[in-house]
Amino acid sequence: MNDYENPMQNPSSESSNHSINNERLILIVDDLPDNLRVLSAAISGQGYQIRCAKSGPIALMAVETTCPDLILLDIKMPDMDGYEVCQILKASEATRDIPVIFLSALDDAFDKVKAFNMGGADYITKPFQVEEVLIRVKHQLSLKVAESEIRQLNQQLEQRVTMRTEQLETINEKLQLEIVERQLTEESLKVSEERLDSILGAIEDVVWSMDETMSRTFYLNAAVEKLYGYPMSDFLEDHHLWLKVIHPDDRDRIKMINHTLLLTGKFSEEYRILRSDREERWVSNHAHCIYDRDGNMIRVDGIVRDITAQKKAQQQLVHDAFHDALTNLPNRNLFMERVEQALIHSKRHLQYLFAVIFIDLDRFKMVNDSLGHLVGDQFLQVIAKILASCLRGGDTVARLGGDEFTILISDMNDTSEAVTIAERILNKFLQPIELATQTIFGSVSMGIAIGNREYETADELLRDADIAMYRAKVLGKGRYTIFDKEMYEQNLKTIHLDHDLRYALERKQFELYYQPIVHLSSEKLAGFEALIRWHHPERGLLLPIEFIPLAEETGLIIAIGDWVLNQACQQMHDWQSKFPEAKSLKMSINFTCQQIREKDLIEKLDRVLATTGINGNTLRLEITETSMMDQGEETIAKLELLRSRNIQLSIDDFGQGYSSLSYLHRFPVNTLKIDRSFVELMSLGGQNLAIIRTIIILAHALDMNVVAEGVEKLEQMTMLKQLGCEYAQGYFFSYPLLVADAEQMIKAHKI
Ligand code: C2E
Ligand code: MG
Ligand code: MG
Repeated sequence: MNDYENPMQNPSSESSNHSINNERLILIVDDLPDNLRVLSAAISGQGYQIRCAKSGPIALMAVETTCPDLILLDIKMPDMDGYEVCQILKASEATRDIPVIFLSALDDAFDKVKAFNMGGADYITKPFQVEEVLIRVKHQLSLKVAESEIRQLNQQLEQRVTMRTEQLETINEKLQLEIVERQLTEESLKVSEERLDSILGAIEDVVWSMDETMSRTFYLNAAVEKLYGYPMSDFLEDHHLWLKVIHPDDRDRIKMINHTLLLTGKFSEEYRILRSDREERWVSNHAHCIYDRDGNMIRVDGIVRDITAQKKAQQQLVHDAFHDALTNLPNRNLFMERVEQALIHSKRHLQYLFAVIFIDLDRFKMVNDSLGHLVGDQFLQVIAKILASCLRGGDTVARLGGDEFTILISDMNDTSEAVTIAERILNKFLQPIELATQTIFGSVSMGIAIGNREYETADELLRDADIAMYRAKVLGKGRYTIFDKEMYEQNLKTIHLDHDLRYALERKQFELYYQPIVHLSSEKLAGFEALIRWHHPERGLLLPIEFIPLAEETGLIIAIGDWVLNQACQQMHDWQSKFPEAKSLKMSINFTCQQIREKDLIEKLDRVLATTGINGNTLRLEITETSMMDQGEETIAKLELLRSRNIQLSIDDFGQGYSSLSYLHRFPVNTLKIDRSFVELMSLGGQNLAIIRTIIILAHALDMNVVAEGVEKLEQMTMLKQLGCEYAQGYFFSYPLLVADAEQMIKAHKI
């Protein structure tokens, strides 16, 4: 036998029927050929395939070529013992699992232990029994099969476990994902809930939600505490509180509307509430019902807003629309409304008596101009209070505008009650009016119109009270008059006159008359006063008293005054060019305070002087004492400018007004014209004469000369002459003359 043989080339007849063993290859390693033979014979007899190796190295080579299923390995061999072979086999991955059965003559326990330590699977002691070898071989092989099966099973198991694990992991991952998603959803829900909460918590409006029966409050935001002054819990615990806080005057209305909410599905109301501290607030409440998919109502949501400021602003607007901002009295609108009501009432109730008083402050313009608008405003405020203090409850005092006030005296027992009130007002003005920085004497002119059923509108009543007031002014101010028919007719006349006056200029209906003014000591003509006349188409020649006050009132006086100025200057120029005697004459022209106040007065005069070519010193402007008194510092400066142009200034009707003589010196005046009323009575001596004497002395002291008006008698002239009065004018010398007559007088140059 060779070192390495394949006994299977000589298959044993005994083992041919064991087909299963055929697949098993057993390597027998022994240095003793006998052993090899015996063993291979015995084993191949069992149908196993056999390889034999005589030494360890040969065995290792054989294993490398074909891997046997089992190795019978002799321990004691010359080149390499069995332990070493086994060690090499066990060290290699490919051969590690080949079961090795050691064969040894040794039966030492130490060897056996070593054999097992080396990785041996079994141990057979020589001399061996073939049966034992076979059993052990079989046993080891079946062990190996079992092991491999177990290994396979294990592998399968592992695969399954791996599969399951993978499946589980997938499921787990899915679950994790779902959990994460849910967490995210919950978190974002929480975030949006928090956001909603913080929004609802921050807004001023109360947001509420109640159940479908409105008997349980689900939700409320914090604003409820601020608006109602009650803790939120009070509303959550007691749903009646919603109604209880409503103002008693609004509660029933809201209760009714609450019922309709369930029917209509909506509610939008404004009402008052009373806070816990009893403070009243206005709120708007907008509510609407919420339904589920089937149309069943599930709850009611609403918003309550504090609209107090808005309501107050609205009320203020309404108040402002009907009240005067300065005095807070009712204004014209409200007053007229009340008069209308009184009229309607009087038509239904025959006994009902009422009256309207129209009040105008006397000389208010003077207060305003001289003391400033601030004082003027204070003055009006005090007047408002004074008037209000004179009324009975139920009466109305209103400010129509400017310095005009009206009073409605309602429900009188007798018409004398209106007079009583008017007198009460007049009495109040006997006292000076104390303002913050000034004390002012004021007076009022009043007109009373007694309501009757013939009046159709409030305007008519006011108009008549106004007419009566105007009459009181004409009669000398600081008084009242009661409207009557005559006044009405007079007024109508005035209206017509006003209409005609507007066309008088363009229709050339005015004419100037010239009344001579005489130098008393020389008894020579000193000049003329231009006096206007109106040739009225129907009423004939009208004197200034019939239309100048009206022209002043309507402002037409400016245009008329311009015409007079031009006309008189033109006339003077004509005379001067015609008659050398006229060179020394002066032309006196009446000026009203409105004309003096005109902004372009100086320019106007300069223009007239330039166009007519007359000298400034031939012109004398007459301003009445009363209108002179009304002038402020600005006008005085203007008068100074006139003086610088040599234009003369004269105070007309002096003594008629109540000017304080002490401030006369402030006016740059050349002449005082003594009022006719003193001249008229001077012959009676007494006070009038004393006054004239005083005026003349005063005038001279102030370096002014004096003209006496209305001289009708010789004795008047003589006395005036004696008193040192320089000039005189009056019917005694001449009536106002037409141009032609005046020219005759110039030519004569003497009276
Ligand atoms: P006045 O400036 O005081 O003028 C004198 C008035 O006395 C004139 O009235 C004149 O006719 C009248 N008169 C003159 N002598 C006598 C007399 O001896 N006895 C009486 N009883 N009266 C006499 P007249 O022309 O009716 O003018 C009245 C007033 O109308 C003037 O008073 C003046 O204030 C105003 N007036 C006249 N013309 C104008 C004018 O052109 N412009 C302006 N603004 N006012 C004028
Ligand atoms: Mg005059
Ligand atoms: Mg006069």
